[in-house]
Amino acid sequence: MSQSNYLKKSLRYFFGYSSFRPGQAEIVQEALQNYDLLIIMPTGGGKSLCFQLPALLKPGLSVVVSPLIALMQDQVDTLLDNGIGATFLNSSLSPQEIHSREQAVVHGKIKLLYVAPERLLNKKFAPFLGFIFKKIGISAFAIDEAHCVSEWGHDFRPEYRQLKQLREYYPSVPMLALTATATKRVQEDIVKQLGLRQPRIHIASFNRPNLYYNVKAKERDSYNELLTYIRRQKGAGIVYCLSRRSVDKIAFHLQKDGVDALPYHAGMDDKTRRLNQSSFIRDDIQVIVATIAFGMGIDKSDVRFVIHYDLPRNLEGYYQESGRAGRDGESAECTLFFSLSDIKKIEYIINQKNSPQERKISRQQLRQIVDYAEGIDCRHTIILRYFGEKLLGNCGNCDNCLSPKPIEDWTIEAQKFLSCVVRCNEKFGMTHIIDVLRGSKKRKIEKYGHHLLSTYSIGKDKSSAEWKMLGRSLIYQNLLDETSDGFSILKLNKSSWEILRKQRKVEIIVNKRAVSNILTKKKYVATETELLFDRLRNLRKQLADNNNIAPYIIFSDSSLKLIAQLKPKNIQDFSKISGITDFKINQYGEEVLSEIRSFFQEENNKNSLSVPSNRITLQLYKKGLDPAEIAKARGLKESTIYSHLSELIEVRQLVNIDELVTPVRQNVIIQAIQKIGDGFLTPIKEYLGDDYSYSEIKLVRALYRREQ
Ligand code: ADP
Ligand code: ZN
Repeated sequence: MSQSNYLKKSLRYFFGYSSFRPGQAEIVQEALQNYDLLIIMPTGGGKSLCFQLPALLKPGLSVVVSPLIALMQDQVDTLLDNGIGATFLNSSLSPQEIHSREQAVVHGKIKLLYVAPERLLNKKFAPFLGFIFKKIGISAFAIDEAHCVSEWGHDFRPEYRQLKQLREYYPSVPMLALTATATKRVQEDIVKQLGLRQPRIHIASFNRPNLYYNVKAKERDSYNELLTYIRRQKGAGIVYCLSRRSVDKIAFHLQKDGVDALPYHAGMDDKTRRLNQSSFIRDDIQVIVATIAFGMGIDKSDVRFVIHYDLPRNLEGYYQESGRAGRDGESAECTLFFSLSDIKKIEYIINQKNSPQERKISRQQLRQIVDYAEGIDCRHTIILRYFGEKLLGNCGNCDNCLSPKPIEDWTIEAQKFLSCVVRCNEKFGMTHIIDVLRGSKKRKIEKYGHHLLSTYSIGKDKSSAEWKMLGRSLIYQNLLDETSDGFSILKLNKSSWEILRKQRKVEIIVNKRAVSNILTKKKYVATETELLFDRLRNLRKQLADNNNIAPYIIFSDSSLKLIAQLKPKNIQDFSKISGITDFKINQYGEEVLSEIRSFFQEENNKNSLSVPSNRITLQLYKKGLDPAEIAKARGLKESTIYSHLSELIEVRQLVNIDELVTPVRQNVIIQAIQKIGDGFLTPIKEYLGDDYSYSEIKLVRALYRREQ
């Protein structure tokens, strides 16, 4: 068998996957050849497999260094649920437990041992490791979250620095370092600090094509938008807020509005925080509302949405936090709620910092995240550009690519605005300038004599919001300055003067809010596959609770989706599904198959109960579907649906048809019927002409007949 065939077979056997993700196959091959490796992959890229599969194929034990107890637990659970010998040692275990796990290692029952960095080199454990090395061999050291070794990273852990000693004690054992950190500096530091030997370096693309990135304007009623959004979602999600206070507030409101949500932040006591986290991981709740304290070490692969309700502090942070969605590769949504007042909040935080250098860096980072939020380019492209990667063309999975915002020439308006700033002697902020432009009667204006300016009242044709949109856009485009001394006074710069001298055009993005509202009101009918998916999801939760592990460890969302789509009838069909190993089939196969069988039995029963066809139409109509959608959902003609609705009107099952035919049009049709009689549709239609459809006439005639 060729090497690549052999690797594929092993992948299928141990993990149930039929193909490698980009980069994985090469990495596994090099690991088998005992190279040192530096592996940089975005979250969800599939790093674990890069050391797990070689560990299973090589003789001896692979030692995995991992910084967090939760991470170890999660990976070990996942391996055990695939029948793979794995265990961890950390401070959460009793001495007896540690002893028995060490014995399992000694007896060769374990292929992957997870350890915390501080344990690895301590007085008790080091001799044990030496013993294992001699007795059964160590096939590799895998250093997970390797950026923890670098002070340049965001998560430096001094314990990681000692890992260099591994190189000295075990020069023959290859080392793999893995991280999702994107910066060059950290990457170089990892190589140096761990003493990697001419490592093969693999940097995967940071593109996450399965994530839908979008930005929404955060307005006064944005809480309602958040709520509607969450109610529409079925899967688990994270809502990030800037402060502990807003975490508590949003969590409280969501609970009150019937969403299963819990808060998480560093101000809570340890126990509650851990409890809330595990409720989230186990799908006991749907939503966790958190500060950025939440997320590191969370391996939950089926997070379906991440919302930033406040502006993140920088783009790298945003990428990492939003990247916790969709690790399983299934589609997931990352939404940023953006408001201008958030910028002020972050500026305030920045101004509290003592070091001028830190303030400078933070300001630059703020600028980058604002550029992302305000940007009209593809969001994937903006993010990747930040990581020095190029993406060409339209990603097809972000708001800017799917619904480009209109750009308009507002040069004349900008001239009005800027000259008003000049007339007010560059001593006022945005609100005052807009008041003058719109001819406000406020006292402040008269006090300064600004009602006498030539620019007073020349901007009545635009709303305050529109002027504000322009003013903000000028500032972002550096066409106007705003002081950051707390007074936010507008001042002209060189570019502003060019605009006034007609040497420069001004184009701005015109934000029309209505679009997003239409999207959120989309009506929805579940298909059979989706209904089955929900059933299987519930079953998965039960199985997980029985085994005391997280649901996504039993089956990933991807596998579950495939099961719902392919609806396997027997073990053979079932075993073909990606992510399903023989071990899983033995564990859960029967239960899944019997769930699918009973699902179909119930569906059949439902359908054979002789429900009159117009009742089914009525049910769908009451759910909010319009006739065209009902027709589509039922595979019937639209005219049939209108006949159903007419029947329902006549028997008073359906009372109000204002949604379908406006009252004014109803009146016109009724008058026509009164003139011509209700016996036949055609003469009524001919009388009314092309403006009125048969369907409308049918409905109104039913209403008319009912009243007779
Ligand atoms: P990372 O550690 O890079 O964030 P993981 O190793 O947790 O990513 O993998 C993310 C998800 O992708 C997991 O659910 C994992 O089972 C899945 N996965 C990894 N490799 C493959 C593959 N070759 N085919 C399908 N799924 C994979
Ligand atoms: Zn895009």
